[in-house]
Amino acid sequence: MQIHSLSIHEIHDMLRSRQIGAVETVSAFLERIRAIDPKVNAYLSTMGEQALDEARLFDSGKKDCSASPLAGVPIAIKDVICIQGSLTTCGSRILQGFVAPYSATVIEKLKQAGAIFIGKTNMDEFAMGSSTENSAFMKTRNPWDLDRVPGGSSGGSAAAVAAGLCAGALGTDTGGSIRQPSSFCGVVGIKPTYGRVSRFGLVAFASSLDQIGPITRDVEDAAIMLQAIAGYDPRESTSVDLPVPDYRAALKEPIRGLRLGIPREYFIEGTDPQVEAAVRNAISTCRELGAHIVDISLPHTEYGIAAYYIIAPAEASSNLARYDGVKYGRRDEETRDLIDMYRKSRSQGFGAEVKRRIMLGTYVLSAGYYDAYYRKASQVRTLIRQDFLDAFEKCDAILAPVSPIPAFRIGEKFDDPLQMYLSDVFTLPASLAGIPGISTPCGFTSEKLPIGLQIFGPHFREELILRIAHQFEQAVPFHLQRPEI
Ligand code: GLN
Repeated sequence: MQIHSLSIHEIHDMLRSRQIGAVETVSAFLERIRAIDPKVNAYLSTMGEQALDEARLFDSGKKDCSASPLAGVPIAIKDVICIQGSLTTCGSRILQGFVAPYSATVIEKLKQAGAIFIGKTNMDEFAMGSSTENSAFMKTRNPWDLDRVPGGSSGGSAAAVAAGLCAGALGTDTGGSIRQPSSFCGVVGIKPTYGRVSRFGLVAFASSLDQIGPITRDVEDAAIMLQAIAGYDPRESTSVDLPVPDYRAALKEPIRGLRLGIPREYFIEGTDPQVEAAVRNAISTCRELGAHIVDISLPHTEYGIAAYYIIAPAEASSNLARYDGVKYGRRDEETRDLIDMYRKSRSQGFGAEVKRRIMLGTYVLSAGYYDAYYRKASQVRTLIRQDFLDAFEKCDAILAPVSPIPAFRIGEKFDDPLQMYLSDVFTLPASLAGIPGISTPCGFTSEKLPIGLQIFGPHFREELILRIAHQFEQAVPFHLQRPEI
């Protein structure tokens, strides 16, 4: 048995029965990070000493390993979420060396559950991207093929989970950044409903879209982590005060009789035939499990990319105004005057993609263009949301691919932002609609690259999509395969 290849619930069982210790567990992951991470580049920073100190509290009996399924379990955090006293760079030079003065609500909640943080993971700068190549610091590699991207923007978290460099991780998803890297790396990732998880202490990218969610080895682990982080937070005005169901208990119920919708707009030309075949097989598996498969239509799907790439940059241009070298961020010292200081600090601190978004966003919000772009995009967003609401009259949940293509080669799309944006076609609409979506492994290409199945549910029905994903995973356990590195 190798500790680093265990799931959260397996680690929990072994910690509780004292087959392994907490220090032993943390050390196993730290050792694995030392050995493997130079190849994968999943971590921007690690917190080994703190993690070991924390683990000792469990081994000495000061803290109780059976208190929660996350007690004593090593977890990695995307570097856009604040942990008090730790570096939080958002993959950006402008925040290099920034130490968070307080912890995010999700961090406090995980801590309360006994989770041990072992490091901060790499990401596209300010979560803008689909490959993690936009990190200012390094390129993360896909553990299944080191020449390929892990997806993005939570590529470091997905790669860390896939490579056994943590037991589970947090990512964030604004337009697909949990689901797409999870599918590229053969792990499970859930984007909760907008409002389900507090973003207090999350560095904002696009505030009407951002959500935090877990990336894990299997669906049960995703249920465990979501349970710990979900719920109302009076410090976050968009968090919703609704009861949080018992996600883990919900997994057990079979899916017989559920109506699963197949949207025709998600099976389009341009999708890799191996991806389509794997998703079609997954649909057949669900049928064999007793689900009713129904054809549905989400007619405004094709406008998702255009609407998202107006709304997200618009919000980003506003959110990123705070990095001016005064309130936040690194300051260029050799400047003539205030304007020169702003200009130099921002032009040197931000990378190319972030600047592109700030320019796009500023343009679509500017007087004279606002109605033509931002307002129009917001109207389209309403139509996309309505598509899903109409569809959920005909079906309980929706099955679709996560990405039209499997993990692509490092550098392949880097110089072509439009191609990069187009690859988000299947993840953006759910973000615009605010509904939950999960990515779960459903096969491999002939080159042994993972393929993900995406499941959407109505608002606040995470327990339903977790249950479908779990029942599917138990029928065809692709998630048990591990990359060889
Ligand atoms: N790829 C999308 C973008 O670049 C989504 C990113 C995200 O979800 N954070 O904006």
